[in-house]
Order: sequence, then structure tokens, then C-alpha cells
Amino acid sequence: MKKQYERSLKGVKQEMTFITRDNLLVFLRSIIDSGKELYAPQLRAEKIFFLPVKDVSSVVFDYVQTVESPKELLFPKVERMLSYHYVDGKMNVTDCSRGQKTADRVLFGSRPCDAIGLKTLAEFFRQDIPDTFVQRRQDSLTVVSMSCAGSDENCFCTSVGAGPGDSTGSDVLLTPVRDKRYLVECLTEKGKFLVESEKELFDEGEEINKEEYLTKLLQTFSHKEIAGKLSGAFNNPIWDEASLRCLGCGACAYVCPVCSCFDIQDEGNSRKGDRLRCWDSCGFALFTLHTSGHNPRPTQSTRWRQRVMHKFSYMPERYNLLGCVGCGRCSRACPADMNLKEELNALDHILEEGRQRVEERQ
Ligand code: SF4
Ligand code: SF4
Repeated sequence: MKKQYERSLKGVKQEMTFITRDNLLVFLRSIIDSGKELYAPQLRAEKIFFLPVKDVSSVVFDYVQTVESPKELLFPKVERMLSYHYVDGKMNVTDCSRGQKTADRVLFGSRPCDAIGLKTLAEFFRQDIPDTFVQRRQDSLTVVSMSCAGSDENCFCTSVGAGPGDSTGSDVLLTPVRDKRYLVECLTEKGKFLVESEKELFDEGEEINKEEYLTKLLQTFSHKEIAGKLSGAFNNPIWDEASLRCLGCGACAYVCPVCSCFDIQDEGNSRKGDRLRCWDSCGFALFTLHTSGHNPRPTQSTRWRQRVMHKFSYMPERYNLLGCVGCGRCSRACPADMNLKEELNALDHILEEGRQRVEERQ
């Protein structure tokens, strides 16, 4: 088995390793017993969320997508960055980015799009000045993803360069095959370490064609073409119409695995307090409001434009990263039925309409 992992890590064709559902549950239990924190899809209020696992029997295997992404494991909703305390005439400041131990965690059951999302988020937070909070969490996180045997009308990973069996960002990728068995792909040293700790639970078996077990999801647009089209679309009047329904509630940003807007808040008084980093959204009017009262993005249409342009044009151009993994969560969560996939599919038509309107006005 050791040789097999070494070969897979060198990129040589991998022999096939499998684990049964029963052994997978034993494997998950062993992760908890080893002292690591295990997160996996579980039911809460009839919806599926990534939650800490106490009892492996509560792990859900058959689902399309969780409501929220697992990005909190790298980038929590609220993070203490520093604390200050005035004692005996002296101000003591604790920099929370230093010297703090981060728990070893395993994320189980993330979809391939989420593993790519975590990787993108970590790379984004490495730009300019590397963010030690995110980096530390990523170093101690092992991602065991599950390929997609099913999808819904909101999924579009194949249009953003990924796919239902994509291994990018995962340490281990499992693919459900027949008879409640899973094909195991061990992709990194972290993944190898985790699997080898319980290697007797894994078996070798006949070679299979993984593609046969994946959901079929047609590519409906090309993100590279979208980036090209958006580069000339900043002043297109269509953004007004496209955003008419948007309530600016921020739900799309909160469920997105890649959205990374945050705000820094100071809480406390002159003697004691904390500096906190809190999730925010470029869809909120307050996000860009200056102290002077000026707001460079004063309308919902300028904020919607920013959201789409940032993900599909600015991020690829500035960081060689794509701000969307096609998970479809924003469309599922939107109370106003804004649908990113539909909008991107119809972008040619939408932009052309805007251009014609400008011409008619001239
Ligand atoms: S979830 Fe929908 S309504 Fe809310 S900010 Fe996003 S696009 Fe607008
Ligand atoms: S923008 Fe929407 S589809 Fe894309 S990654 Fe974020 S939540 Fe998923």
C-alpha cells in the first residue's frame, strides 16, 4: 500500500484502493478518537450543514450540497485579531495571530467544488501580506472530499473549469461506486498520513472507470470567455436591470465558499477590548460607505456589478484565481431568485441588449 501512495504522489497511474461504507464509519470514528476535530455534513432543521461530529452515525452521505460552504474552517465569521487590557498603568496588547495553537481538523464529505473553494480562499489570503490566521488553519486542516454522484439545476462546476470528480484542493478524494464502496484517491502527504493511520480499513480492487460513477453535468459557458466579455461591460446599463430584484441581503456572499469580504470592528472601552474581523459583503450599502458620507458604490446595481466583475474578471486578472467554483449556493439561497448561472449563460444576450439601448439613446 505504501508503494501505491508513493506512486500516486509522483503522478504515476494509481492502483485502485477502496473502502466500504462500514469501514468508512470506523475510519471517521478513529479520526475523532485520535483527538482531531471532525466536521462532516449533518442534518440541522431538515437541511444539511457541515457540523462538528460527535457521533459518526449522524453523518449524511447522500446529498447534493450543504447550505453553507466550509469556508468557516479557514475564515471564521468572527475572528479576534487582537485584545488589549489596561492594567497597572500599562496597556497590554495580545496579537492573536501569534503563538496560538490551531486544532487539527478533518473536513469530511466536502464536494470537489468546496475543496477548490478552500484552496482559492487560502491563496487569496496569501496575496500581498500573507494572512497567518488563515494560513495556520489551512496547515492543520485535512480535506477528505466526496465526488458528486448527483447534481441539481444550480450546479455549474464544469463551466468554471472544475468537475464532479475534480481532485484539486482535496487531500483525499472518495468516489462512491457500487455496493456502498468508495474509490479512494490519496492526493497529498496530509491525505497519505491520514489514510495510512488506519490502512487496514482500505482494500485494493480491480481498476474501474471513475467517470462512470460521476454525475453528468454539461458545460454551458466558458468562464474564460465570460472574463473577456466582462472586461468591456463596466458601463453597460444592463447592470441596473439585472440587479432590480436584489435586496442587498448578503445571503449569496455568506454561503459562498470563495467570498472573502470582511470588516474590522473594535469592541470594548478605553481599558479593555478586542479587535474583531467579521464577515461582510460587497452587496451591502455600508460596505463601501466612507466616513465623509460618500459611497463609491451607491446603488444595488453598482454593487451587483462589483460582485460579478470581481469574481469573473478582477480576480482572474489580478491573482490568476477565479472567484466562483460553480457550487450554486448563491442561487439556492437568494430570497429574490437571482440566479448567477442563468445570468452568466445569458450574458451575451444581456450585454448586447444594453449596448443597443445605449445606441438608441445616442
Ligand atoms: S442573496 Fe440575492 S437578494 Fe440577497 S444580496 Fe445576494 S443576489 Fe441580492
Ligand atoms: S458565486 Fe455562487 S456559485 Fe459561485 S462559488 Fe459563490 S456561491 Fe457558489
